[in-house]
Amino acid sequence: MALTAAEMEPWQKAEVTEVWEPTPEIVTVDKNNIPSDATVLFDGTSLNQWQSAKEGEAKWLLKDGAMTVVAGTGDIKTKATFCDAQLHVEWKMPTQITNEKGELLTGQGRNNSGVFLQQRYEIQILDSYNNKTYANGQAGAVYKQHIPLVNATKAPGEWQSYDIIFTAPVFDAAGKLKSKAKMTALHNGVLVQNHVEIQGVTEWIGAPTYSAHGCDSIRLQDHGNPVSFRNIWIREL
Ligand code: MG
Repeated sequence: MALTAAEMEPWQKAEVTEVWEPTPEIVTVDKNNIPSDATVLFDGTSLNQWQSAKEGEAKWLLKDGAMTVVAGTGDIKTKATFCDAQLHVEWKMPTQITNEKGELLTGQGRNNSGVFLQQRYEIQILDSYNNKTYANGQAGAVYKQHIPLVNATKAPGEWQSYDIIFTAPVFDAAGKLKSKAKMTALHNGVLVQNHVEIQGVTEWIGAPTYSAHGCDSIRLQDHGNPVSFRNIWIREL
């Protein structure tokens, strides 16, 4: 017969609120801090898991364990598609911050790229080190939607990281939005987006809106600047 609360010893009362199942899966990290259950999307040796966002092969430059935007070759995207995910991306700005005429690159023109979750929702990549632009368009911004909490940008030439936790939007069978996408992001280990609600597909002009879609690729932006990437991995949630 079950004991009444009054008859229980403290340890018996404590047991009432213990939950033993399910047991979390064991995940280890390797010397590069890559979790054992992650899918590596780019390890510096090939562009095999990427393709042009339009069509054909990814034509970015593969060199010295990194891939670098080749201006005009277009965005690239993963061949695989993803929904809810934890994504790690490392990126580096060129040290060249002047154009061919020797003029300083400023604002959005200072080495722009971006990571698009599901090809639609951009977290901005920009050289925001001593470079003023609109706050909802600087590095770490959910572009034109959420200003980063802080500016954690490192100097050009230094490797930087994004750790992104993305919750995909949910649509019902009729294509009506049931819940908006959410994003948490750390820039160089510093929280810049704290579970923000994404208002719709990233737009340069005008208000964002949603239209129904399924799981989709991670897309990296060719904004005409030689931004480099390395060590990209994802954990599907
Ligand atoms: Mg961009």
